[in-house]
Amino acid sequence: MKYDYVVIGGGSAGYVAGSVLARKKAKTLVIEKEKFGGVCVNAGCVPSIFLSDISFILSRFQEIGNYKGLSVSVENGNFFKKRDEIVEYLSSAGRKLVEDAGSEVELGEAKISGGEILVNEKKIEFNRLILASGSIPNPPRIRGIENAISEDEAVNLHSVPESMVVIGGGYAGVEIAQFFARLGSKVSLLTRGKIISELDSEARSILLDSLEWDGIEVIEGCCIRSIEGEKVLTDKGEFRGEIVVYATGRRPNLPVGIGELGLEIREDGIVANQEMRTSNPKILVAGDVVNRRKKVAHVAMLEGIISSLNAMGGNYTIDYLHVPQVIYTDPQIAVAGDKGRAIKISKFPLTASTRALIRGEREGYAKIGIDCDGKIVYGEVVADTAEDLINLISLAIRAKMTCEEIAFSALTHPSLSEAIENACRSFFNLDVDRFKGMKD
Ligand SMILES: Cc1cc2nc3c(=O)[nH]c(=O)nc-3n(C[C@H](O)[C@H](O)[C@H](O)COP(=O)(O)OP(=O)(O)OC[C@H]3O[C@@H](n4cnc5c(N)ncnc54)[C@H](O)[C@@H]3O)c2cc1C
Repeated sequence: MKYDYVVIGGGSAGYVAGSVLARKKAKTLVIEKEKFGGVCVNAGCVPSIFLSDISFILSRFQEIGNYKGLSVSVENGNFFKKRDEIVEYLSSAGRKLVEDAGSEVELGEAKISGGEILVNEKKIEFNRLILASGSIPNPPRIRGIENAISEDEAVNLHSVPESMVVIGGGYAGVEIAQFFARLGSKVSLLTRGKIISELDSEARSILLDSLEWDGIEVIEGCCIRSIEGEKVLTDKGEFRGEIVVYATGRRPNLPVGIGELGLEIREDGIVANQEMRTSNPKILVAGDVVNRRKKVAHVAMLEGIISSLNAMGGNYTIDYLHVPQVIYTDPQIAVAGDKGRAIKISKFPLTASTRALIRGEREGYAKIGIDCDGKIVYGEVVADTAEDLINLISLAIRAKMTCEEIAFSALTHPSLSEAIENACRSFFNLDVDRFKGMKD
């Protein structure tokens, strides 16, 4: 069988690429070996944020109860079943989108052999191939690691363990630790360095306070020696978890026979340029399998669009600078842009935001960094809804907007977005909402 375009992987990058190619009436095949939707839908963003939302609601009920002098008791419903239903729905929707666009689908593992693809004992020829085979968990080299489960498995547990040890202080480790602690586990979070080491000290200390408030034992600078059943032995003592989870990074998921394609492959993935082209003119790449730092679904989807348009002769490029990243903890922490390019940074605290006061948000801020032309090059938001607020800053960075353009905009009142507007106004001493005497 010969296709114009073959896509390996039906995850965030692959289902988007397959749909775009098929919508342009190209003869397209998408091959998926497990479930459409990939990690994001089946073992990442979707199940993880679902559990994070549940734990957020639970914690707010308990807080409001305490504040109002009420005793609030929550009977846990079967939220794991609801999570599974949503995952199942989105996974089948991913496949349907690809098929409705006109692409063919093959369920099976694609292998490379003799310049062709082998799947389910069929030989597939192609004019262009888009590799979107994603990433898999990278277990640490620790004796007894087979006693632990990966981050992908943790977000798919069907009960709340009495106790949990999470190894790894990156985005996934911190999120998993917080939502399981709020759902009732006694959690220890162990990390070799600092938790989310790339964060500023201010954001990190808010995050640490929040984790400690949830009763999580956070151990930084911890060297793990071995895992023996439920026991994790470290240089900082022994920790016990009915479930031990490792969330220690991921590695590219490379199809068997990839060596034949003559691609440049590094530890972190396949090397590509900003058009998603590789060293082999017939092969383009998209998603987590690409050698770059920000392994997130929204980048994978955009790369899916760009790789497919370029496979059809386009010359679109991807701009990584504006890409936002969110830690879905409570509060959420989100960053976009490059702090290194900022010559001035201003901050507007949520304690001075009318909307935050009404909502009862206790902490958080919006920070804006500008370059020497006043252009916005960096943003950082700590807030319950940082996932949306950061998108405003991300678009401003992408559109190369100046802080003046935002300072002289009229955003809705009352809204948390005003914190971004006010952070820009403060460059011109126009942030009049900042309460007198407030040091921040
Ligand atoms: C716990 C967790 C939480 C996350 N939360 C977020 C979040 O909140 N926001 C966010 O943006 N990102 C999040 N991510 C990251 C996000 O899930 C990934 O960036 C995204 O899934 C990458 O998409 P992809 O299509 O490149 O790869 P994948 O999702 O890995 O999809 C690749 C697909 O290719 C298939 N495949 C692989 N090899 C073959 C083969 N040889 N033949 C056929 N099929 C093959 C796989 O089965 C898989 O379905 C999270 C990840 C984890 C683990």
